[in-house]
Amino acid sequence: MSRELIDLAIERLREDFPNKSRSWVRRALIRFMKNTVKEYGEGAWVVRGLPELGDRYPTYVVRLRDGRYYCSCFESSWGLRRKSEICTHIAAVILYRNYKRLDSDVYASVVNIECTDYYLEIPSEFRGRVKVVKSVRVVDSSDRLNPRHRVMYIVYSDEPLELRAKLVCDGDVRELSLRLARTRRYIIELLTH
Ligand SMILES: [Zn+2]
Repeated sequence: MSRELIDLAIERLREDFPNKSRSWVRRALIRFMKNTVKEYGEGAWVVRGLPELGDRYPTYVVRLRDGRYYCSCFESSWGLRRKSEICTHIAAVILYRNYKRLDSDVYASVVNIECTDYYLEIPSEFRGRVKVVKSVRVVDSSDRLNPRHRVMYIVYSDEPLELRAKLVCDGDVRELSLRLARTRRYIIELLTH
């Protein structure tokens, strides 16, 4: 496991559950780092219980149904109290999924430009298959109404693709030929967050 990916996976977990305590995150992390989460088919995971975290059962089953997570610990004697919360078995599964997603392959191409006005157009036939994210930094604001930006576009997809895109930079229109090359999703997250 890579430290950088774990950090990012935790960051995503914190963003999704901003009101959860540090100890909740820590317990989820312990479960994840001890390799207790195993995928068990579509939308189901088995989490090995850890007595040191108060688990009374050797395993717990977490399911994802209609966008909601359910854990078998909800059915235990503490179920009534726990049902309203998201237990750390679920949090460990979310961490596991975040990590797997960040570690997965994507195909991407990066376009760097410096302009005042800019626009990147992807042909409509690629809509849905190709995503574009941009990161923008002001490099010259001496003309306050028209600051100059350094713009990085990342064009990416789940599949290797070649496409032509239209790039507009201060009235200059260029056709770009983009070949999306294999990289990992966390690289894109690092570049854009
Ligand atoms: Zn649970």
